[in-house]
Amino acid sequence: MDPFGLKVIFITFLVFVPLERLFGMHPQQKVFRRDWGNDVIFLLLNGMLIKLGLLAVIVGIIFSAAWIVPASFQAMVGGLPYWVQIPAVIVLSDLGFYWTHRMFHAVPWLWRLAATRVHPVDQILTKGVSLIPVFALGFSEWVIGVYALLYQWQSILIHSNVRVGFGPLRFLFVSPEFHHWHHSDHREARDRNFAGQLSFLDALFGSFHLPRGQKPTTYGLDQPMPQRYLPQLLYPFMGDRIFRIFQSKSDTAALAATMRAPEPAAE
Ligand SMILES: [Zn+2]
Ligand SMILES: [Zn+2]
Repeated sequence: MDPFGLKVIFITFLVFVPLERLFGMHPQQKVFRRDWGNDVIFLLLNGMLIKLGLLAVIVGIIFSAAWIVPASFQAMVGGLPYWVQIPAVIVLSDLGFYWTHRMFHAVPWLWRLAATRVHPVDQILTKGVSLIPVFALGFSEWVIGVYALLYQWQSILIHSNVRVGFGPLRFLFVSPEFHHWHHSDHREARDRNFAGQLSFLDALFGSFHLPRGQKPTTYGLDQPMPQRYLPQLLYPFMGDRIFRIFQSKSDTAALAATMRAPEPAAE
């Protein structure tokens, strides 16, 4: 048992620290950036909450699907060749991810969840919806394993401070460059790049933003957001009252930065 995902965190550390040193998108960003202790709490505690929630969602999907989806259909899907199943599972799950994610940005009370760094309720619902086709339609276990592995590594990669552009594949797959725009606070990048894996979904639905030769210089939100874990967890339900309850210098310093980028480099 590894409820905190320590193994993955350790492997990720070994892989990405050298990568970020060698190919940093923001080379001045330190390995242990400001407030990294807060990051660790997010990673461990929040990661466990999300995992537990998703586990419950998956069990729910499997049981409901046994009622709703005909067994013959599931057998047909599971019998398809892998080269059909793997793209199919990625497209279907990312369609679910795209639209749930976009809805979280568009509906004000859902946005309060999405605006926090990675609120477990947001994560569990958005990821949960994307897992419905994965676990309901009868994809083979092997295909689900490959999907999970690809998803996990891509999601770590796109959040890393690594400068890889993906070349022409950037119009097909979500790259770090593409996803960093989603977290930037540039006006023109607002509500853009919702996809988790397939950037062409954003092109298809009119939310693609990847200007040539540019990269985001500032990240985060243009609204005050508590920085520490507990106040941020409660923020969606309590709103700005949270600042009066948990008063601290960093929390009231307003302008939160989800991925605090240093000053733009002269390059
Ligand atoms: Zn978002
Ligand atoms: Zn992200």
